[in-house]
Amino acid sequence: MPLDAVVVGSGPNGLAAAILLARAGLRTELREAAPTVGGGLRSEALTLPGFIHDVCSAVHPLALSSPFFRTLPLHEFGLEWIQPPAALAHPLDDGTVAVLERSADATAAGLGPGAESWHRLLAPFVRAWDGLADDVLAPPLHFPHHPLLMARFGLGALLPATLLARALRGPAARALFAGNAAHSFLPLDALGTGAFGLLLSVAGHAVGWPIVRGGSQRLADALAGYFRSLGGEIRTGAPVEHLDELRTARIVMLDLGPHQVARIAGDRLPAGYRRALERYRYGAAAFKLDWALDGPVPWTAPECARSATVHLGGTLEEIVASEAAPARGEVHDRPFVLFVQPTLFDGSRAPAGKHTAWAYCHAPNRCTLDLTDRIERQVERFAPGFRARILGRSVLTPAEFERRNANLVGGDINGGMMDLRQVFARPVARATPYRTPVRGLYLCSAATPPGGGVHGMGGYYAARAALEEMAGP
Ligand SMILES: Cc1cc2nc3c(=O)[nH]c(=O)nc-3n(C[C@H](O)[C@H](O)[C@H](O)COP(=O)(O)OP(=O)(O)OC[C@H]3O[C@@H](n4cnc5c(N)ncnc54)[C@H](O)[C@@H]3O)c2cc1C
Repeated sequence: MPLDAVVVGSGPNGLAAAILLARAGLRTELREAAPTVGGGLRSEALTLPGFIHDVCSAVHPLALSSPFFRTLPLHEFGLEWIQPPAALAHPLDDGTVAVLERSADATAAGLGPGAESWHRLLAPFVRAWDGLADDVLAPPLHFPHHPLLMARFGLGALLPATLLARALRGPAARALFAGNAAHSFLPLDALGTGAFGLLLSVAGHAVGWPIVRGGSQRLADALAGYFRSLGGEIRTGAPVEHLDELRTARIVMLDLGPHQVARIAGDRLPAGYRRALERYRYGAAAFKLDWALDGPVPWTAPECARSATVHLGGTLEEIVASEAAPARGEVHDRPFVLFVQPTLFDGSRAPAGKHTAWAYCHAPNRCTLDLTDRIERQVERFAPGFRARILGRSVLTPAEFERRNANLVGGDINGGMMDLRQVFARPVARATPYRTPVRGLYLCSAATPPGGGVHGMGGYYAARAALEEMAGP
């Protein structure tokens, strides 16, 4: 029987699109280049036998906020969320820790002079997050379900993170906000970086920053299991080199970056559209370390052990300096480090008494520097004695990321630069960015709105566009 639809790439967006198409009754195949499904959700024994590490994503405020994933019966397919007591810890050199607690009230109470300003900035969005997430994790040009609140969120989101952070009072609140905004991979004085600070802070209060029991791979496996239960078929180890391989399907959905799309669909695309795809810009890269550890991380401040995620970068001013460096082709001597310690809350990922940790910092695209020492020095700064606990180490350079997954061009893990221009033209400026000029051919990767992160909403909206076009005249 011929296929109705082929989805190429099994990242969270590909899986989301495949599920929606299969649920609409289409005979759907998911094709994946790698030997396993998941894309940015893969987990592997990167260091020593018995230690499971998240190769890419580890912490999932966006998956839990996702208007689509929230509707799926993933627990029936083995998914179990773990919520650490706090979403995030951000230690400072004076021994204090800014903590993103589950409640905005509790967070504010711990921020000293920043209490009132933190509450004022975030609480209105936290209360409405259930519905507001539908608008935030959506294409930028749509009519919002919550116009007034979305207008307020959108205004803040457009601003540079530095402006919002400086409107907060006290070093703890400012540092906490800046660390969240640094997930943009952009200099924090760039327009639009406020969005990341708002989104991740609000989500931390509204849904937490959970991890997946057993590793992020289990989320991919649950999505794949649900897809199979709908009659979907999966082929792994099957890279698509040219669109001609997929001629029989009525719908072809590409969970791929624009440059790769231009390569494999090139001669089928109008020249102008193809050139626009080729002009798409990639941003700063990740340089990542994973460790197998002999014991838990020896934090100076015990509060750091209340959350899976710890931001290591000190004050607002220090984070601003760190995040400005990649755009100049440099890496700061004390880079902002995103650190995750999953085994404090999930013993299934390491042998008894042992632990894992995951960390990365930002670097220029295609950077070839070895940043191991700089990252480990930042951990030692807040956890002296950390290095002595290392049993094994894995290093993932920008080049290695791209070798493992062609979507991670030059080590960019966000699916392309998330500056203001590419928020609105993602990957090109079109009324429906998921559609291409070729009938039946759609894009659904993190290079489509709403962009990077594990939420599946690019896949959801692309599949909806395909189903609407199929049903239309
Ligand atoms: C180091 C790192 C840390 C991250 N941390 C987080 C986090 O904590 N939380 C979070 O929400 N997000 C995080 N992210 C981002 C998140 O993982 C991505 O934004 C998300 O996975 C993008 O999903 P996607 O479906 O668009 O593409 P991907 O997940 O990149 O999947 C694309 C898939 O397509 C396959 N593919 C590529 N080319 C072909 C081809 N020609 N034929 C067939 N298959 C092909 C690839 O092998 C891959 O499986 C992180 C990413 C990285 C790399």
